[in-house]
Amino acid sequence: MSGRGEFDWIRSRLVPLTRNHAAARGLADDAAVLDCPPGHELVIACDTLVEGVHFLPGDTPHTVAARALGSNLSDLAAMGADPLGYLSAISWPQDRSEAWQNEFTQALGEIQDRYGVVLLGGDTTRTPGPLTLSLTLIGQVATGAALSRSGAQPGDVVWVSGSIGDAALGLAWEQGDASLPAETAHRYREPEPRLAVGQGLAGLASAALDVSDGLVADAGHLAAASRVGIEIDLPAVPLSATCEAWVSGQGDAGLIRLITGGDDYELLFTAPVSATPRILALGELCGVRLTQIGRAVSGQGVVCRDGEGRAVPVATPGFTHF
Ligand SMILES: [Mg+2]
Repeated sequence: MSGRGEFDWIRSRLVPLTRNHAAARGLADDAAVLDCPPGHELVIACDTLVEGVHFLPGDTPHTVAARALGSNLSDLAAMGADPLGYLSAISWPQDRSEAWQNEFTQALGEIQDRYGVVLLGGDTTRTPGPLTLSLTLIGQVATGAALSRSGAQPGDVVWVSGSIGDAALGLAWEQGDASLPAETAHRYREPEPRLAVGQGLAGLASAALDVSDGLVADAGHLAAASRVGIEIDLPAVPLSATCEAWVSGQGDAGLIRLITGGDDYELLFTAPVSATPRILALGELCGVRLTQIGRAVSGQGVVCRDGEGRAVPVATPGFTHF
């Protein structure tokens, strides 16, 4: 977009999303100016979603908005940050309807309000390619309190929030596999970033990340960053009632599909055994199930074990980006 068209688009669709936050300056200046309170650090994450790669061409504007903000907020949750605001860069395909754009910005507004963030700046352009959304999320943490992937120690307990696998089935259902439970689709459409859990883990967790590529793949990322091995007890992996019912007819292959599917946006973290009572209390406080699924050990890589302790081979641990 250029000239008048872009200006009007920003004024009518994006300026309302600033909710008059002073840092956004009505999107009238060349950049946002954000205050950082004393004793805090800014935490900044950027994530790009491309139509046909990170969401389906038929997805609703609401799903696209929810996935864009949800996945970015999940990265802030993984850092233990309190989100403040975001910048958006949107490249619209030539033929994207006005109605679709309106619904999209409306949905962004609803979701940002739910998580207490405002738009601080944005750019918008036309593209001959697919719809591409890049959001940059900004949050804050007390100085030195940000979580990291690299602090796990042998002997630490491995935990995961919520339940694993629904989003993978939900995506396949959206793609037309009607044999899968339809109730899982909402977990694909609307990720729920675990912000309160992440913030509560400051000082408790030794390492953390969010599960976006698949439980096993992301456990591998944490293991590599921390230079430890991770053992996952498969029977301990928390499943929703829907996934529990589905997997019972599938054998090992079904469970492996759930733990390698991705898009869960749960938090995977490690903590010393001594932190267990405080972590369970945090789960109660946040109303989110926090489950022990294994342990960090000396060594490297991820080993999944069945109920008898036998290693279960996992050929493809999760989504790979390139
Ligand atoms: Mg992440």
